[in-house]
Amino acid sequence: MRALAVGCVALSLAASQRGAPATNADPMSTISRDYVRLVLALGKHDPDYVDAYYGPDDVKKEAEAAGLALDAIGSQAAALTERVKKMPAGGDELSALRKQYLEKQLGALTARVRMLKGEKLSFDAESKALYDAVAPHYDEAHFQAALDKLEARFPGSGPLVERFDTWRRAFVIPREKLDAVFQAAIGACRERTAAHVKLPAGERFTVEYVTNKSWSGYNWYQGNYRSLIQVNTDLPTYIDRAIDLACHEGYPGHHVYNALLEQHLVTDRGWLEFTVYPLFSPQSLIAEGTANYGIEVAFPGPSRIEFEKATLFPLAGIDPARAAEYYEVQALVEQLSYAGNEAARLYLDGKIDRDAAVTWLQKYALMPKDRAAQRVRFFDQYRSYVINYNYGKDLVRRYIESKGGTAGNPAKRWQEFEKLLSSPRLPSGLK
Ligand SMILES: [Zn+2]
Repeated sequence: MRALAVGCVALSLAASQRGAPATNADPMSTISRDYVRLVLALGKHDPDYVDAYYGPDDVKKEAEAAGLALDAIGSQAAALTERVKKMPAGGDELSALRKQYLEKQLGALTARVRMLKGEKLSFDAESKALYDAVAPHYDEAHFQAALDKLEARFPGSGPLVERFDTWRRAFVIPREKLDAVFQAAIGACRERTAAHVKLPAGERFTVEYVTNKSWSGYNWYQGNYRSLIQVNTDLPTYIDRAIDLACHEGYPGHHVYNALLEQHLVTDRGWLEFTVYPLFSPQSLIAEGTANYGIEVAFPGPSRIEFEKATLFPLAGIDPARAAEYYEVQALVEQLSYAGNEAARLYLDGKIDRDAAVTWLQKYALMPKDRAAQRVRFFDQYRSYVINYNYGKDLVRRYIESKGGTAGNPAKRWQEFEKLLSSPRLPSGLK
């Protein structure tokens, strides 16, 4: 939230007018206020923990003034969990989900406290504790089929990743054209989303280009239906990243998810706990899973290539006649997505060192060396968070499809997608 400190006061006034006061009449509001305080308290020990906060300023001040140590945060979280468990599960579906949400989020908070105190969890135990999910395991042989096809597509000597990378250079968006391409992608993602989802009035975001980060894009939600989206330009940006990032960070991804939660849960219901977003928590699997799945919801079937051919490729100065070729190869590379999880698991479980993780990513995830090194820095900083992207996407897809939101029924798919984006549902609730 370093980037978000400015403007907090003005926003928190609006939030405190909307948010429910902590009255004795409603024990859930007291619980939710205590939860926010604990999340903010833990943020003082872990600079990456609080991803967004737009709630009342006085709660933040209370958390800061209390200056709780990790042990105190852990014991208060345990006590708060007991209070949540004693609450009746009655009410509507959202109220039942709210109770489950608080229990699971508090469980993850407690696990993060243990980790910060030095407890070592295995990769899978950590992802279960923090994200309420364990990603499937795949061995090298699993990725070989896609690698064999890519080997046949790019015949020659030397490592496959180098042949692939040489071919791919023709699809880099030149730095001076990046903003024009990205703005066009955002416009298209927003238009497609707004045709199906009622976006809160006044929602908007700003884009910034940054360097020296372990991620490629980041959405910083600021409250009041506003986001700051940062795009990292350390490494070349390939043409597919325009739509991926615009959908993922913006529409119908993180920006929309946060704005709908604010509108439906904070503004309409006064549920204060949704004004804070702890990054290392089950909510992140839903956030990343919906942000990635949202790309194909917004651009189903061939519509993406059609749009890119007509608009983005020309804007980027890339030959539109090569769009189909590019996405044929992308579809094969996509089959290597879980190789990143395997590298992270092996590395964080201490089975391979940093250099071996970089080599693994080059070979099985087809990442050039500089990108592989950036990815390992991401593992250092965010650890098992990596599963939220691909496994999250798969869980969200299965859930939406189980509700009838299949590719063949786009209206239903948007409807279920919007419903998920507006609810406190967590990973175990997707099954
Ligand atoms: Zn994301």
